[in-house]
Amino acid sequence: MSEAAKHTFQAEVQQVLDIVINSLYTDKDIFVRELVSNASDALEKLRHLQHTEKDIFDGKADLEIRITTDEEAKTLIIEDRGIGMDHEELVENLGTIAHSGSKAFLQAMAEGDQKNSNVIGQFGVGFYSAFMVADEVEVHTHSWRPDAKQLVWKSDGKTGYEITEDSEEGSRGCRIVLKLKEECEDFAKDYRIKGILETYSSFVPFPIFLNDERVNKVEALWLKKKNEISEEEYTEFYKFQGKAFDEPRYRLHFSADAPLAINSLLFVPKENPEFPGMGEIDPGVALYCRKILIDDKPEELLPKWLRFLKGVIDSEDLPLNISRESMQDSSLVKKLGDVITKRFLKFLDKQATDDPESYKEFYSRFSRFLKEGVATDFSYREQLGKLLRYESSLTEEGEKIGVEAYIARAKEGQEEIFYQIAQNRAAIEAGPYLETFKARGLEVLFMYEPIDEYVMGSLPELQGKKLVAVDRSDIDFDKYEATEKPEGEPLPEKDGEKLVDFLKKAFGERAKEVRLSKRLVDSPVAALQSEGAMSPQMRQMMQAMNQEMPGADPVEIELNPRHDLIKKLAATSAKDKELAGLVADQLYDNAMLSAGLLEDSKDMVNRLNTLLEKAMG
Ligand code: ADP
Repeated sequence: MSEAAKHTFQAEVQQVLDIVINSLYTDKDIFVRELVSNASDALEKLRHLQHTEKDIFDGKADLEIRITTDEEAKTLIIEDRGIGMDHEELVENLGTIAHSGSKAFLQAMAEGDQKNSNVIGQFGVGFYSAFMVADEVEVHTHSWRPDAKQLVWKSDGKTGYEITEDSEEGSRGCRIVLKLKEECEDFAKDYRIKGILETYSSFVPFPIFLNDERVNKVEALWLKKKNEISEEEYTEFYKFQGKAFDEPRYRLHFSADAPLAINSLLFVPKENPEFPGMGEIDPGVALYCRKILIDDKPEELLPKWLRFLKGVIDSEDLPLNISRESMQDSSLVKKLGDVITKRFLKFLDKQATDDPESYKEFYSRFSRFLKEGVATDFSYREQLGKLLRYESSLTEEGEKIGVEAYIARAKEGQEEIFYQIAQNRAAIEAGPYLETFKARGLEVLFMYEPIDEYVMGSLPELQGKKLVAVDRSDIDFDKYEATEKPEGEPLPEKDGEKLVDFLKKAFGERAKEVRLSKRLVDSPVAALQSEGAMSPQMRQMMQAMNQEMPGADPVEIELNPRHDLIKKLAATSAKDKELAGLVADQLYDNAMLSAGLLEDSKDMVNRLNTLLEKAMG
């Protein structure tokens, strides 16, 4: 061995090392990821050289990574047959700070809070991370160049490093020997390193052997061509990567070059893994950069409502060393998430069109997430809105349609999409609102879930059509001709006016307005909402959550002038004020009950008893 040449680290390297060594950061595991990813890069570079260079030192050596742990010697050795480094490269690469990761690290340290040791672990600091766990590191290396020398780079990570020429001929690549710190002896244990490799390096494109046993057996399918992958391989991958036991329901394997280089493989599980009341599941799509894991549960990548997705997104455009913190405000990550979200929604739309039956299955399990998306995320509401499905007044029970189908069969000139939110179909069909729409052949979407209230509140319109609740008082029915003429004679105009006056007095402040209805067909009364009033369902929800609420906006009451009950009430109001008053109050409560607005039924029951007594004489 020739004499060692001593070198001092560049000042910035010293800075990085100081922080790395003195940091109290607990998650030291990432040093394995960093060294393995360097080894993988070196192998990748060699693979490229093989196309152009005839003469490569140790040309037949396998492109693989070998890791050896030695508990007794307290060492960890990471070895690759990559391009290696010559003298100049050793000085340049491991003595200065010309490379990306460490630079970004220093920058963040300068900008941020130096005392916050957490910042450190969130960065990959590349090669220097070895000094988190080792008090001495040796790099035995031989460059791929046939005339290169076998060299040993050695450092304690403090003052500097030395480079020695090794007289013995080694093999091509790098062998990095870490003499572990006492408190880091754990990393000389096989199982410890195995666990780390499984987390971060499962898809490294070269075989990794740990103590002669192959550890990474699953291919990075997302980078392969679709026609080279079998169904079984996809399913296997889904189960392995997503730690799943079911089969995937949908799969989207998608690549793009612009605006970002993306390779992604997404899965929708068979069943919804989130149970009501059990809290939200973590995001399931992991972020990779060239097959190396960056984050297995990135919060910032996809919108929260896509947390049911599993799989992988890989983008070469991301720096491997991107930190979780800088991910939050990285416009690159946002853009990546946005491109994938739009692509996935487009995919769902196509599924819905091409195979409505399987979309129905999907929808019955995952519609909650789509609705959450509409209600919480304005960016995608138009695309999401298109994916929603509801029963309607024109479908059978259990059959659902989307807005596109609704619009396709809407009346000419119809600018609105009508909907009603209620407990269930029977409640809507028994109520006083639907009849008006039926008589005019207008379709009404039926919604049964509390979250639909938020969905409708967040969707003023879809595909250029306004969404309008059926109990709104300002719907212009004159635009739509009734296909069925109402039966019977209406109350004479004079009697009608008198009855309206009587009821205005009887209802007092409880009604903003009382009038004879043009819309009612079979029901005697209906309570309608003015523009801007809080909907009954929203009130109920807020009440359920014990929220402070302003008093309900007074409703507008409409009377059906052709209904027998109304005609009789008109007659009675002239003769028996007491009975007419009781009936008026009861009609009011009936209307409120149908509207979902009756908050207290105590009075109603007492009154009904009185009315029953009277009816029996
Ligand atoms: P980064 O990988 O972000 O560039 P590192 O500190 O990890 O930063 O590595 C610095 C440089 O050292 C690398 O860019 C590479 O040129 C060289 N290097 C590190 N490990 C190896 C290796 N196993 N084989 C060949 N070159 C390596």
